[in-house]
Amino acid sequence: STFADIDLGDALNENIRRCKYVRPTPVQRHAIPISLAGRDLMACAQTGSGKTAAFCFPIISGIMKAPSAGRPQRGGGMGMRTAYPSALILSPTRELSMQIHEEARKFSYQTGVRVVVAYGGAPITQQLRELERGVDILVATPGRLVDLLERARVSLQSIRYLALDEADRMLDMGFEPQVRRIVEQMDMPLPGARQTMLFSATFPKEIQRVEFVQEADKRSHLM
Ligand code: AMP
Repeated sequence: STFADIDLGDALNENIRRCKYVRPTPVQRHAIPISLAGRDLMACAQTGSGKTAAFCFPIISGIMKAPSAGRPQRGGGMGMRTAYPSALILSPTRELSMQIHEEARKFSYQTGVRVVVAYGGAPITQQLRELERGVDILVATPGRLVDLLERARVSLQSIRYLALDEADRMLDMGFEPQVRRIVEQMDMPLPGARQTMLFSATFPKEIQRVEFVQEADKRSHLM
């Protein structure tokens, strides 16, 4: 089958066509229908497999079809604004975050879905300005996101989609405490209101042991 056969919403289907993607890659062929059906998933996927689109398409499509309730922005103190993204894409490095952001922006062109990136090793000021202009999808590295949460510049209370990219690398780099803190702040009032997608090149015990993964595993298709 081709992407033209999958209804992701007109604007997104048009962007996919513009990117010259015709046929889904294997990871996309498996992951996209599961995510569109509202299920959690863990997928084994290497760089170059097309995993970025595999998590971006269902997120963008889902936000387009059910835009966030337009939650009022509450002050983070000192008259600062708090951003309430609907989706969070966590990635281990600045370089990977930048790549995901670039792709996600192409896919979200003229969809009304706004993507913002926040990573460490760069001044936070510009990232704060971008967040203040509103954000639907936040692409972030764990350390910088914890910083933004501590400053109350981002709230994760509205997160409906969580994607963890290169989860094994995030653990290898020692980000488990940050990832746990991030996931803890995400509890939605309704169980099942949030969808988790975990992508990892390898599946060591540590990945399977993490509670948020076990939670996801109850409803997931392990590929
Ligand atoms: P990724 O594994 O997400 O880093 O993607 C690897 C490369 O494949 C990127 O340059 C994508 O733009 C490209 N790509 C992803 N999915 C497709 C597809 N279905 N058809 C053609 N190219 C694709």
